[in-house]
Amino acid sequence: MQDVNLPDQTIIIFALAFLLAVAVLVMALFAYLYKRQQNQLMKQEMMYREIAGRRRIRAADKKYVFERDNYTCQICGMSKDYMDSFEEGLGDYLLLEADHIQSVAQGGSGDDVDNLQCLCWRCNRKKGGRRTNEEVMDMIDYGIGFEDPEDI
Ligand SMILES: [Zn+2]
Repeated sequence: MQDVNLPDQTIIIFALAFLLAVAVLVMALFAYLYKRQQNQLMKQEMMYREIAGRRRIRAADKKYVFERDNYTCQICGMSKDYMDSFEEGLGDYLLLEADHIQSVAQGGSGDDVDNLQCLCWRCNRKKGGRRTNEEVMDMIDYGIGFEDPEDI
């Protein structure tokens, strides 16, 4: 009886060991795939954060650019001084923004003040992330070149 049972037990032990090995391998494979996916998600997240960070303009840079450009829109030419010349304080209604001359999405530098310019909100909306100053100039019918001070 024992002579007959012994090989059966051996086969069962080997079969169990084999199944265990397969289970461990499958688990290792899943763990590897999961970790790889997590790494990819993390890389993607870091990339998004870097781009978002590069798009943000520091307050000090903004102030520098406004002063360098004399609070004047580099496309339409509207300036705080020009508006203030009609009535003191009117220039405060000119909403000026710091714009990336070449957008970060198109490879422009995100933190170099040489890639920043002062624009009024109206021109900046038209420029968006794709157009150049020249293209916006061809689109607009407002600004210094169009306004006659006598008409205002
Ligand atoms: Zn403008």
